[in-house]
Amino acid sequence: MTAAALARSIPDRPPSPASLWAATAPAAPRRPAASGELQAEVVVVGGGYSGLSTAHHLAERGVEALVLEANEVGWGASGRNGGVVSGKFRLGFAEMERLHGLETARRMHAIGREAVEAVEALIARYGIAAARLQANGNLRCAHNARQLGLLAAEADWLAGRLGDRSYELLPAGTIAEETGSAGFVGGLLGHHAATLHPLGYARGLAAGLERRGVRIREATPALRVRRDGAGLLVETPEAAIRAGKVVLATNAYSDLTPASDRLRRSLVPFRSAIIATAPLPPALDAGLLARERSYSETRRMMRWFRKVEGRIVFGGRGAFGKTDSEAAFEGLRRAMVGLFPELADVRVAYRWSGLVGMTLDKLPHVGRLEAGPFEGRLAFAAGFNGAGVALSSLIGRYLAAFLCGETPEVALLDAARLRPIPCPALREPAVRLTAGLYQFLDFIGR
Ligand SMILES: Cc1cc2nc3c(=O)[nH]c(=O)nc-3n(C[C@H](O)[C@H](O)[C@H](O)COP(=O)(O)OP(=O)(O)OC[C@H]3O[C@@H](n4cnc5c(N)ncnc54)[C@H](O)[C@@H]3O)c2cc1C
Repeated sequence: MTAAALARSIPDRPPSPASLWAATAPAAPRRPAASGELQAEVVVVGGGYSGLSTAHHLAERGVEALVLEANEVGWGASGRNGGVVSGKFRLGFAEMERLHGLETARRMHAIGREAVEAVEALIARYGIAAARLQANGNLRCAHNARQLGLLAAEADWLAGRLGDRSYELLPAGTIAEETGSAGFVGGLLGHHAATLHPLGYARGLAAGLERRGVRIREATPALRVRRDGAGLLVETPEAAIRAGKVVLATNAYSDLTPASDRLRRSLVPFRSAIIATAPLPPALDAGLLARERSYSETRRMMRWFRKVEGRIVFGGRGAFGKTDSEAAFEGLRRAMVGLFPELADVRVAYRWSGLVGMTLDKLPHVGRLEAGPFEGRLAFAAGFNGAGVALSSLIGRYLAAFLCGETPEVALLDAARLRPIPCPALREPAVRLTAGLYQFLDFIGR
């Protein structure tokens, strides 16, 4: 297919969701699309945290990058997420030890810590006040005694095996006082976690990179990447870009064009949705989530919540399907009112959703292609499994190292571990079925 025909097959640029973040982030400039014959040492495909952090780390090494974003900076998960900054992976550290040994679990734990620090460092480096970073911890709230026991065992394991004593088990009364909900039997407070304004952070990163001369082009989908003489050629609707190397940072949005086909085959895109209430009346505001941390439940279909400028922001995943639905948002509202009955009459002011990229082993992966026509010239990172604010901010450091021919110690994040999804045609129905089963098990209290 020619590049022109490919360009025609791409759906019109979809609008960004009308989220709380879009309504409250500082305005961003419209950046021009790439056009004509261009050159770059490295082309970064995707203008989310992964792509932007890669451009940052390349710039630190004196390597010149050109970032291509199909829509606008932060249009993907990076501008839509819950803003929970945490170094946890979907696969628990104890499970990592069971499967891969203590040293691997230890390295993964260190990577998690580095990831939270990477967010702090980027925000400090570019002075991103609009990221509104608050290092206020994350509280996991147990919905039954069995889950509280598991949280306690996890804290013991982290202290005993990894020497991490930063977790604190809290009794039901403290949780009720802090959250304003009587729905929990106790919880585990993790101190190495923060919250931020996701779109303010993404836009601030892009602005900071531009100040130091990094080129960012919006409305520019990379249609195809191919070998061209000694380097690579990236085709877009209006440009042909000669590049020494290319990074794919398209994560759950890798379905857009054939350029990121090799990621699409290994990811299951899963819809995650968020609602935000209108500002709470002062009496209610004072009684709910007073410490303004991030909070999550221990149910299989985990719901999480936080307070942002007097509004409750409540999110979760479910059997949501390809597009947004009234039923999915109403399900979230009901779950919120189940935990906070006082919110029954408070208006939901914003509702939006986005895709998270799930992998078979529940872990993100990063690396470069070592074989084939792209040998050593193409690097990628993907599969944050819905926990990527911190990790994708760190991943650029590894991507830049891989592109410069180094082999950083990424333990279980090694790209060679990324497995293709069997029967890709069945991936969406299978996800919905599993999510439906989990919701049912949660409902009957199993
Ligand atoms: C609703 C929701 C809530 C979440 N909440 C949290 C949370 O609270 N905490 C947490 O840690 N994680 C959370 N996540 C996950 C987190 O947001 C992601 O892991 C992270 O943002 C991934 O960043 P990224 O840069 O890899 O991908 P994205 O931000 O998705 O960026 C990919 C970009 O690539 C662009 N693109 C795709 N194809 C092309 C192409 N061919 N050419 C050019 N550009 C292209 C897309 O337009 C998109 O902007 C959430 C995700 C969602 C959707």
